[in-house]
Amino acid sequence: MREWIIGLSAVLLASCGPSQDIDQTPDASAAAIEAGLPSPGSATEATKRANAALASRLDLSPGTDGEDARRDRLAFIEEDAILAADGSVVWAIPQFDFLDSEAPETVNPSLWRQSQLAAHHGLFRVMDGIYQVRGYDLSVMSVIEGETGWIIVDPLTANETAAAALKLVNDTLGERPVTGVLYTHSHADHFGGARGVISDEDVANGVPVLAPIGFSESAVSENLIAGNQMSRRATLMFGNTLPRSTTAHVGSGLGPGLPNGTISLILPTEEIEGRGTRRVIDGVTFEFIDAAGTEAPAEFMFYLPEKRALCTAEVATATFHNVLTPRGAKVRDALKWSRAIDYVLAEYGADSDVVFASHHWPTWGQENVVQFLESQRDIYRYVHDQTLRNANAGATMVEAAEAVEEPDFQAEDFTTRGYYGTLNHNAKAVYQHYFGWWGGVPAEYNRLPHEVTATRYVEAMGGAEAVLEIGQNAFAAGDYRWAAEVFNHLVFADPERQEARDWLSATYEQLGFQAESGAWRSYYLTGAAELRRGLPNIGDPRLGNPDFLKAVPSLDLFDALAARYNPGKMDRDPFAIVFEFPDTAETVSLLVERAVLVPREGAAEDPAATVTMDRRDFDRLILGDARPLGLITSGKMKIGGNRGAVSAMFDALDQPPFWFNTVVP
Ligand SMILES: [Zn+2]
Repeated sequence: MREWIIGLSAVLLASCGPSQDIDQTPDASAAAIEAGLPSPGSATEATKRANAALASRLDLSPGTDGEDARRDRLAFIEEDAILAADGSVVWAIPQFDFLDSEAPETVNPSLWRQSQLAAHHGLFRVMDGIYQVRGYDLSVMSVIEGETGWIIVDPLTANETAAAALKLVNDTLGERPVTGVLYTHSHADHFGGARGVISDEDVANGVPVLAPIGFSESAVSENLIAGNQMSRRATLMFGNTLPRSTTAHVGSGLGPGLPNGTISLILPTEEIEGRGTRRVIDGVTFEFIDAAGTEAPAEFMFYLPEKRALCTAEVATATFHNVLTPRGAKVRDALKWSRAIDYVLAEYGADSDVVFASHHWPTWGQENVVQFLESQRDIYRYVHDQTLRNANAGATMVEAAEAVEEPDFQAEDFTTRGYYGTLNHNAKAVYQHYFGWWGGVPAEYNRLPHEVTATRYVEAMGGAEAVLEIGQNAFAAGDYRWAAEVFNHLVFADPERQEARDWLSATYEQLGFQAESGAWRSYYLTGAAELRRGLPNIGDPRLGNPDFLKAVPSLDLFDALAARYNPGKMDRDPFAIVFEFPDTAETVSLLVERAVLVPREGAAEDPAATVTMDRRDFDRLILGDARPLGLITSGKMKIGGNRGAVSAMFDALDQPPFWFNTVVP
């Protein structure tokens, strides 16, 4: 029997360090240099002008935000790094020290300010009994003092950063047990470090783990079926393979960056629903406000009446967030999002002395809390309403995004600026939410693939040399959006043409240097790097995760396998396989049709084969931690009927490469 391996991507946030082959960047082609290609890492005059213009239009002094980001720091991690058990660096403490200077010409000055604020790291006092550990992860861990221990809100992305954060708390404030854990929503940067602060044993001993309704399903399923594409895109969006420097990654806008640690999942002991639902954890009263379908499919905010403190989770943070994240996700509902913020403003605004969130620094003072919530509410409503106003008047998706201009309040309240999401791509997301992917112009409905049109465009524009010149003229004029489109045709028509890659790379670099969104900057600059030196030579990250897989319902797991089915590899007549999982007492049938796999609960009639094994072992098989022959030999997997049918089904599942091309065909 053949051995099959089914590496199923179950984790959104692929951990991988900066690319190891940075020093091997090839020189740009002589022809490109002769034609005026700027050397990599330098800002052009047009970029300098654009960044200077923004700096003169906005008051970029740190101001109140600067005071709030530094306020009441009690301690910080004094070691050089947070390490994994094997000694590898999970989070280098000084990696963002370079931000402690004036904005360089190669970084949007407003993003620079935001990155400086987000890089302040340590343990901070929010008020008596509420603390935050910030600056050691993309997200923030909040810690609330209970009667006997610590209640942890959002244990970061990785076990290692979460454990280091808890150690800092215990070392500084006195050692106490963890008496409760809250996950505010279903994104991995808010629960992935769970095993760094509690164990399964703690949960079995009664430590409550509370999460919003729908958490368990959303946490695993949002990213399972589309995990490979999402994880690959996340490497671009978060600049995972870029160095941290003034010419590369400076921060994500939402937080400094992703750690290279171990992601875990401990399922909640209770999922909370409703608005105004109360629970007392270790003597502290929490009032929960459901916000499902805003920033995440499952999310809650909460209010602490005894403290007059409001936690807005990731619904309201110190940035304009993504209505549709560049890494990919189902589009979010900007109107629902704005309404959820207005709800907490109306219900709790007058009774809150501080608002804190799961990213960034808190806002203190009741009037400031109200102003913060008003601005946050308004930016989501603004992009929603203005996109629809334009679309209803006939605008296409791109036209609507172009027409939604910066509102006055974005120049005053920087927490609404596009450091993560942008007006441009969020307007497109609103358009997509209502009208789908198509702008409404017939010629755009059934377009040819770009690999086909690229060659024809190049020909129609007078050939490769003429296209190069058009692109270079656009570049020289600082018209980088047009230059990117022109050079992109050339690269897609002939990806081996180094000169074209050099110019497209230089164009992406200038777009990155001007971008105010950390996500845009990282996306452009990673694209530029991949054009210059190809894909990173660092091997595929391990994407499977036993904690995640265990939490996936069996039917969903088979749906994810079905999305790997390559009908071209199946040459048998339709048949069925029945899977019996004794440990979960489940029976699932897989109907193997000509074009699709159909999972169905219960036993099919006349199956070609019946596979009996624990679901636990099936997960190990899928992760590649166990092999079929080994499982069969040890009696953990029994196949009744036609073994060849089982092999044929697994052999027909594709194993997609992680490092697929994005900037070249
Ligand atoms: Zn987050």
